[in-house]
Amino acid sequence: MRTIGLIGGMSWESSAEYYRLINQQVRDRLGPLRSAKLLMYSVDFGPVEQAQHAGRWDDAAAILVDAAQRLQAGGAECVVLCTNTMHKVVGQIQAAIEIPFLHIADPAGQAALDAGTLRVGLLGTAFTMEEDFLKERLTAKGLTVLVPKADERQAVHRIIYDELCVGVISEASRKVYQQVIESLTRRGAQAIILGCTEIGLLIKPEHSALPLLDTTELHAQAAVAFAFALGE
Ligand code: GLU
Repeated sequence: MRTIGLIGGMSWESSAEYYRLINQQVRDRLGPLRSAKLLMYSVDFGPVEQAQHAGRWDDAAAILVDAAQRLQAGGAECVVLCTNTMHKVVGQIQAAIEIPFLHIADPAGQAALDAGTLRVGLLGTAFTMEEDFLKERLTAKGLTVLVPKADERQAVHRIIYDELCVGVISEASRKVYQQVIESLTRRGAQAIILGCTEIGLLIKPEHSALPLLDTTELHAQAAVAFAFALGE
């Protein structure tokens, strides 16, 4: 079993999910007392979030480059960045390490293709929904990506930072997300990519008529697959 490296803290609410999901899968594969070999470097989200909203992406990238290098130096055999949004600076992180970087969009895109759903709705932060860094990785796989309308995007973004990242799960916000999902469904979406690692805390499969592709779950699965893959 190879050692997984996680960059967490963005937010730690979702990093805890990665930790739980990865360990559960290793236990399922290897037996009751088995667990994952992993390192997590968990950053202070405050300065990262401030840099995001001020457009200082190089400052945020520097924090993550440092984290990735620490994971590599500590013996991690891959880097898993536990946030969709910060994949905006993936190039800078990849250039700073020699170990593989497991991109969050790849397992999500593959899951959509495997399910035969070529038209996907994407929920995430405004950065993720409005900029190209994640969408283009999905469209390169042959998917059509629909994002919510402007007012819907604003609500989805606000709920992520004001509630989900600080551990608040509210029925009212769940309804907002359900309405956005219904609106994407009317526009032809066949599945919904939960493209923010906290959304799965609010929206579970029973809350959506469309299949959900949860980036946290799929990314955690990809990390475990890497840990068990031989000869790569
Ligand atoms: N965890 C979120 C994501 O997957 C949002 C927090 C962040 O800005 O990193 O995009």
